[in-house]
Amino acid sequence: MSFKESIQLNMELSYFEGQIPVNYQYTLGVAGTKFFEALKQKGEFIASVCSHCGLKTIYPLIYCEECFNPIDTYLSIGLEGELYSFTTCYLDYQGNRYDKPHVLGLIRFKGIKGGIIHRLNIDEKDLKLGMKVKAKLKPSKERTGTIDDIMYFEKV
Ligand SMILES: [Zn+2]
Repeated sequence: MSFKESIQLNMELSYFEGQIPVNYQYTLGVAGTKFFEALKQKGEFIASVCSHCGLKTIYPLIYCEECFNPIDTYLSIGLEGELYSFTTCYLDYQGNRYDKPHVLGLIRFKGIKGGIIHRLNIDEKDLKLGMKVKAKLKPSKERTGTIDDIMYFEKV
Protein backbone atom coordinates (compact mmCIF):
# COMPACT_ATOMS: atom_id res chain seq x y z
CA MET A 1 0.00 0.00 0.00
CA SER A 2 1.45 3.36 -0.95
CA PHE A 3 0.73 6.80 0.46
CA LYS A 4 -1.33 7.55 -2.65
CA GLU A 5 -3.92 4.97 -1.71
CA SER A 6 -6.83 6.01 0.42
CA ILE A 7 -7.89 3.73 3.26
CA GLN A 8 -11.66 3.23 3.28
CA LEU A 9 -11.91 0.71 6.10
CA ASN A 10 -9.73 0.56 9.18
CA MET A 11 -9.55 -3.24 8.62
CA GLU A 12 -7.27 -2.39 5.68
CA LEU A 13 -4.68 -0.90 8.01
CA SER A 14 -1.60 -2.95 8.73
CA TYR A 15 1.02 -2.60 11.39
CA PHE A 16 4.46 -3.82 12.25
CA GLU A 17 5.49 -4.88 15.73
CA GLY A 18 8.80 -3.67 17.04
CA GLN A 19 10.45 -0.81 18.84
CA ILE A 20 11.70 2.50 17.62
CA PRO A 21 14.36 4.12 19.79
CA VAL A 22 13.39 7.75 20.27
CA ASN A 23 15.66 10.21 21.98
CA TYR A 24 14.74 13.86 22.22
CA GLN A 25 15.47 16.95 24.17
CA TYR A 26 12.55 19.20 24.99
CA THR A 27 13.27 22.91 24.83
CA LEU A 28 11.32 25.39 26.89
CA GLY A 29 11.12 28.11 24.26
CA VAL A 30 11.47 31.83 24.91
CA ALA A 31 8.52 32.31 27.26
CA GLY A 32 9.02 28.94 29.00
CA THR A 33 12.62 29.90 29.72
CA LYS A 34 11.43 33.20 31.23
CA PHE A 35 8.95 31.28 33.40
CA PHE A 36 11.50 28.85 34.77
CA GLU A 37 14.20 31.52 35.20
CA ALA A 38 11.75 33.55 37.30
CA LEU A 39 10.87 30.44 39.29
CA LYS A 40 14.53 29.58 39.90
CA GLN A 41 15.96 33.02 40.51
CA LYS A 42 13.08 34.98 42.04
CA GLY A 43 10.90 32.20 43.44
CA GLU A 44 7.77 33.39 41.67
CA PHE A 45 5.44 32.51 38.83
CA ILE A 46 5.08 34.84 35.88
CA ALA A 47 2.24 35.20 33.40
CA SER A 48 2.36 36.71 29.93
CA VAL A 49 0.24 39.78 29.27
CA CYS A 50 -0.96 40.67 25.78
CA SER A 51 -0.67 44.44 25.44
CA HIS A 52 -3.23 44.38 22.60
CA CYS A 53 -6.19 42.47 24.11
CA GLY A 54 -5.09 42.12 27.75
CA LEU A 55 -5.12 38.31 27.87
CA LYS A 56 -2.96 36.95 30.69
CA THR A 57 -1.75 33.35 30.51
CA ILE A 58 0.23 30.87 32.52
CA TYR A 59 2.41 29.26 31.26
CA PRO A 60 3.53 32.41 29.49
CA LEU A 61 3.40 32.77 25.72
CA ILE A 62 5.30 34.83 23.14
CA TYR A 63 2.24 35.20 20.92
CA CYS A 64 -1.30 35.81 22.10
CA GLU A 65 -3.54 32.82 21.46
CA GLU A 66 -6.58 35.11 21.15
CA CYS A 67 -5.42 37.96 18.89
CA PHE A 68 -2.08 36.54 17.62
CA ASN A 69 -0.10 39.66 18.51
CA PRO A 70 3.44 39.26 19.84
CA ILE A 71 3.81 39.39 23.62
CA ASP A 72 6.72 41.05 25.38
CA THR A 73 5.20 41.81 28.76
CA TYR A 74 5.42 39.44 31.71
CA LEU A 75 3.87 39.91 35.11
CA SER A 76 4.81 38.42 38.47
CA ILE A 77 1.81 36.65 39.96
CA GLY A 78 3.41 35.33 43.15
CA LEU A 79 2.87 31.74 44.23
CA GLU A 80 -0.72 31.74 45.46
CA GLY A 81 -3.69 30.42 43.52
CA GLU A 82 -6.97 28.54 43.83
CA LEU A 83 -7.58 24.81 43.66
CA TYR A 84 -9.66 24.30 40.52
CA SER A 85 -9.66 20.49 40.38
CA PHE A 86 -7.89 17.54 41.95
CA THR A 87 -7.43 13.79 41.67
CA THR A 88 -5.74 10.98 43.55
CA CYS A 89 -3.17 8.76 41.84
CA TYR A 90 -2.41 5.29 43.14
CA LEU A 91 -0.01 4.08 40.43
CA ASP A 92 3.08 5.59 38.83
CA TYR A 93 3.66 5.79 35.06
CA GLN A 94 5.01 2.23 35.02
CA GLY A 95 1.96 0.87 36.83
CA ASN A 96 3.72 0.44 40.19
CA ARG A 97 1.61 1.14 43.24
CA TYR A 98 2.70 4.13 45.34
CA ASP A 99 3.33 3.50 49.03
CA LYS A 100 1.04 6.43 49.68
CA PRO A 101 -1.40 7.82 47.06
CA HIS A 102 -0.38 11.09 45.39
CA VAL A 103 -2.90 13.90 45.28
CA LEU A 104 -2.58 16.20 42.26
CA GLY A 105 -4.35 19.47 41.71
CA LEU A 106 -4.96 21.98 38.97
CA ILE A 107 -4.18 25.40 40.39
CA ARG A 108 -5.51 28.49 38.67
CA PHE A 109 -4.64 32.11 39.29
CA LYS A 110 -7.12 34.98 39.50
CA GLY A 111 -7.65 36.68 36.14
CA ILE A 112 -5.17 34.39 34.37
CA LYS A 113 -5.97 31.83 31.67
CA GLY A 114 -4.41 28.40 32.20
CA GLY A 115 -2.96 26.89 35.34
CA ILE A 116 -0.42 24.56 36.88
CA ILE A 117 -0.93 20.87 37.63
CA HIS A 118 1.17 19.72 40.55
CA ARG A 119 1.31 17.71 43.76
CA LEU A 120 -0.80 18.82 46.74
CA ASN A 121 0.42 18.44 50.30
CA ILE A 122 -3.07 18.59 51.78
CA ASP A 123 -5.11 15.81 53.39
CA GLU A 124 -7.73 14.55 50.96
CA LYS A 125 -10.48 15.18 53.53
CA ASP A 126 -9.52 18.87 53.65
CA LEU A 127 -9.58 19.44 49.87
CA LYS A 128 -12.21 21.86 48.64
CA LEU A 129 -12.55 23.32 45.18
CA GLY A 130 -11.77 27.02 45.26
CA MET A 131 -9.57 26.79 48.36
CA LYS A 132 -6.50 29.04 48.45
CA VAL A 133 -3.23 27.20 47.92
CA LYS A 134 0.38 28.31 47.67
CA ALA A 135 3.39 26.71 46.03
CA LYS A 136 6.11 25.50 48.35
CA LEU A 137 9.41 25.82 46.50
CA LYS A 138 12.74 24.19 47.11
CA PRO A 139 15.32 26.43 48.80
CA SER A 140 16.78 28.85 46.21
CA LYS A 141 20.21 27.19 46.06
CA GLU A 142 18.60 23.81 45.26
CA ARG A 143 16.42 25.08 42.38
CA THR A 144 17.38 24.05 38.87
CA GLY A 145 14.79 25.87 36.75
CA THR A 146 12.38 22.96 36.30
CA ILE A 147 8.87 22.11 37.43
CA ASP A 148 10.47 20.13 40.26
CA ASP A 149 11.53 23.43 41.82
CA ILE A 150 7.95 23.32 43.10
CA MET A 151 7.82 20.72 45.87
CA TYR A 152 4.02 20.89 46.19
CA PHE A 153 1.11 23.22 46.82
CA GLU A 154 -0.19 23.60 50.36
CA LYS A 155 -3.07 25.34 52.13
CA VAL A 156 -2.69 29.06 52.71
ZN1 LIG B 1 -4.11 39.32 22.63
